[in-house]
Order: sequence, then structure tokens, then C-alpha cells
Amino acid sequence: MRFQELFGRTLREAPADAELTSHRLALRAGLIRPLGGGAYAWLPLGLRVLRRVEAIVRAELAGLNGQEILLPGLLPAELLQESGRWQPGLNEALLKCQNRDGRHYVLAADFQEALAAMAAHEIESYRDLPRLVYQIRSQYQDVARSRGGLIGLREFTVAEAYSLERTPAELDAAYDDVLAAWQRVFARVGLHPLLVEAPGGHEFAVFHPQGEEAVVRCDRCGYAARLEIAQARPSAGPSGTPEALAKVATPDCKTIEDVARYLGVETRQTLKAVFFVRDETELVFVVIRGDLEVSETKLIQALGGGTLRAASEAEIRAVGAEPGYASPVGLSVRTVDQPGGGVTVVADESVRAGVNFVAGANDAGFHLTGVNYPRDFAATTLADIAAVADGATCGRCGAGALHVEQAIVVGYCRRSGGRLSERLGAQFLDEGGKAQPVMMGCYGLMLERLVAAIIEAHHDAAGIVWPRSVAPFAVEVVTLGKEPLYHEQGRALYAELKRAGLEVLLDDRDERPGVKFADADLVGAPLRVTVSQRALERNALEGKWRHSEERFDIPLAGAAAAIVRLAGEE
Ligand SMILES: [Zn+2]
Repeated sequence: MRFQELFGRTLREAPADAELTSHRLALRAGLIRPLGGGAYAWLPLGLRVLRRVEAIVRAELAGLNGQEILLPGLLPAELLQESGRWQPGLNEALLKCQNRDGRHYVLAADFQEALAAMAAHEIESYRDLPRLVYQIRSQYQDVARSRGGLIGLREFTVAEAYSLERTPAELDAAYDDVLAAWQRVFARVGLHPLLVEAPGGHEFAVFHPQGEEAVVRCDRCGYAARLEIAQARPSAGPSGTPEALAKVATPDCKTIEDVARYLGVETRQTLKAVFFVRDETELVFVVIRGDLEVSETKLIQALGGGTLRAASEAEIRAVGAEPGYASPVGLSVRTVDQPGGGVTVVADESVRAGVNFVAGANDAGFHLTGVNYPRDFAATTLADIAAVADGATCGRCGAGALHVEQAIVVGYCRRSGGRLSERLGAQFLDEGGKAQPVMMGCYGLMLERLVAAIIEAHHDAAGIVWPRSVAPFAVEVVTLGKEPLYHEQGRALYAELKRAGLEVLLDDRDERPGVKFADADLVGAPLRVTVSQRALERNALEGKWRHSEERFDIPLAGAAAAIVRLAGEE
């Protein structure tokens, strides 16, 4: 490719609203161009990088016998309705459109339903399993504000693999294989993301102050998890000998802080009641120590899925609790022994870390003291549902401190299991002739974010310093001088290198050396070869690696072969 024929210009300055380094450099180097409304076009230079990343992903999945498929991005809404995942919360996150045929479609934010529906067609017996299929295509997400260029896109490219298995053990094996393949992809493109525990599996996170996800890391044992599911050890609560329950007047004390102040105790000596409605049908009464907050993600996991919203005062009163003065003490709680009636109470582990708590009395203006679990109240479920705060004690090693950091999530691995297969009829006949749900695993790499993370990790003040594996061009040939001779010599070298199979960018523009070198540094080809009068007088070309300041001579005789060798070495 000749620089002067390239579609897409380099820019001296990036727009002021481009905050991330990767965003600024991708714009300046002419990799991407904004079309407004958070939409970006890939220009030829950027698309070359994206295609090289895709080729690495395809090669790694081919090594696992992965087979490439292509699912439609516009899916009929019925597919999601049948899957049981068509819920208010999810609805809003999908981009809906109504066709002229009156049917509703969604721009896919997720292809699990489509894959399960296909498995229902293609899989009949245990002989058809296991399988690994994948696709590389656009996905869509509803974002409030697009920021950070390649990081928070509404339309983005995902390499998404699906594994289909007979048993949970087979799923575990496939999970480990794809996770290792993703790690090889990262190593090949020059990234070393941290493996982080996430809902349903793992994520790969690159720490960056402007990343969109909050990740927690232990400074001692290496434990890392998404903030919303991270596990901390609750600090010690009040200690002592359990006392008898007593009802005390607490006028005008509607918040935990009011009660603690009024009774002269710390908030960690109180129990807080929080109310949610699950799936628009069931009231969930959450009890947690007063100094902690509820993680809704952990709560959903503890409940086994569904959607949550805050309950209204009327909904709270309907189960016999008094808003502002609520506690599970004295309520009819749904338990294993009493599965039919009663209210669902989820208690955080922290209710066990302490004695003689202050809790509501379900009577306006009154609280109870001396509340002890499980003596005074029951819980349907006891689980860790507390949100983790920065500096909390690690729940894994119990010694280190957890630190919350922002990160860019570039990939994920999830065990979906057989739930969706059951809903959509993806079954196989086992060796005994019995129908079983197909086990599914789901694995993704977000390619634009990956490119952004590569630029964040590989750049300097002058521009991008591409790793050889993903560089848009292996070599840039720059010609300098007023005489046509030098430019002709450069063009001959360019033609020879191309014939040898190298990806070469030729800058034979009529520009000052400073402009051409600045563009070469910005675009970031690993090797720069300059054809100039000064070097030719030494019977040489001037070579320079992008990652180094050192310049070196490449003898003119056999120069092309030497450059091909150098480009392959780095
Ligand atoms: Zn730890």
C-alpha cells in the first residue's frame, strides 16, 4: 500500500473529547473514524489490525476442532420469549425493531438462544457430541453514553465460541480448553490480562483507570473477582453473651444511622432490612448487618436467577413488615420445613458475625434489642450477599486487603449448563436411549476492546508501537530526497518486498522528512526502512525498529532478503 493512496488520513491532533490514549491514537493514526452517535467506521489501516486479530483467534479455535458458523444479527423476538429470558430488565437492554410484516425483531445482544435453537435441530444423539462452534460478528448493546472510542461501542465485534457437551464433566474439560486458547490469543497479541472470577465463570481484565468494570484484587493471595460478586470476610460484629429480646422506643428513627445514634451503638450492631420484588411476583426480604450494603448480583445468584426491583411501601406492608422499622423477627418465614407459605428471607452471612443486634420491631417507632440469629428469626437462605468495599479483608485468604480497580474486560468464559437447552428443546439421546439436555459453554473475545487494550499497552509519545503479530504492515519504506532516483529505488524495493510476501507500506510522498517520520511513528509498523542519499552513499539503506531509537545499516546488496529476514525475526 502506498501512503498517498491510503483511504483515511493521519491527524496531528485528536479531538478534545477523546479521553483514552487508545482512542486518541486510533483516530490520529487513521484506524477508525467517528460517524456520530457513538458509531465508528474501521478504515483500511485499522481493519487490517482487526483482521489479523481475527486470524489469530481462528487459528487457536481450529486447534480445538472449532467449526465456524454465522448466525443472523436480526433475530425474531419469539426466540427470546420462548427461552424465558424475555424479561422487563432484558427487554430494555435489547434494541427492538418492528418490521413491515408486523413481527418484532431484536438486534442480538446475545446469541445463546439462537445457538440452542440450532442445537435442537442438529444434535440428535450422544454421537453428535461434543462440538465446538464459533462465529465472529457484530453484536449490539444499549449504552447510555458511548465513551472511550473502541471500549464502549454500541455495535462491536465478538469472537464467540459455544461448546456443546453431554455431561458437566465434558463441559468442564471444554471450558478449560477454550480458556487456555483465549490465554494463547492474548499472549500472541501482546496482552497479559488478569483472569477474574465473574458471574457464571471468568473474565479477562486489563487494568485501566478509565475501564468500565470494577474489579477487586487481593494484595496477598492473588484472588481477583468482579466487584459485584467478590467475597470479603465480614469484620467482627458485636460480641458478648446473648441477651433477652427487649422492645425499645425509637421515635423518628427511620434510618440505620438514626437508630444507631439514638441508641448510642455502632451501625455494625444493627440489622438492616432491604426489600426487593423478584420477577414481579415474589417479595424478597433481605437482612444484612447495618454497616454493609447489598450486592444485587450476589442476591440474584443466591435466589437462583431472575430480575429484581425495589419494593414499594405497600408491598412491604403486605407481608406484615413496617417500612423503616422492619425485621424478620416474628414474621412467618418461608423455610425448607415450611415451603408453602411465608415470606422469602435472605440473610447475609454477617448476621452470624455478632450478637445482640438492634433490629426493627415491625411497629412504627419501636426497635428490638438483643436480636440473635438463629434464636430470634429464621431465614429461607443464608448467603454472602454483601457488596465489597475497598480495603475489605479478602474472603479467600482472610489476611490480604481487597482493592477495587477499574478494568477493561476483553474476554469471558461462562458455563451455561443445560437450563437454556431444556427450555428450547436442545436434547440428545444418551447411550441408554434417554433424552438429556445438551450442556453449553459460552466463550467470547471483544475484538475492538482487545485492539484498544493492545494500543494502551503498546505505544509511546509518538504513536503506536504494534506487536509484530497484529501490525497493519510489517515494514514501512520511507523515501527521502529531491532526486527522483531515491524514490524510484524505494518503489523498486517496495515491489520486491511485496513479491516476497511482506505487508509493506510505502511512503514516497513529496513531504518533509519530519512529516514522514512522524507519520511512520504514529502508524507504528515494527520496522522502518529509509531510502536516502546519505545511506545510499554508504551503499546501504537505513533500518530502525519502532521500539528502539537505534538506527542501523542494511547493505544494499541483498537488502530485500535481509529485510524479509528481519521482519520475520522480531
Ligand atoms: Zn487474599
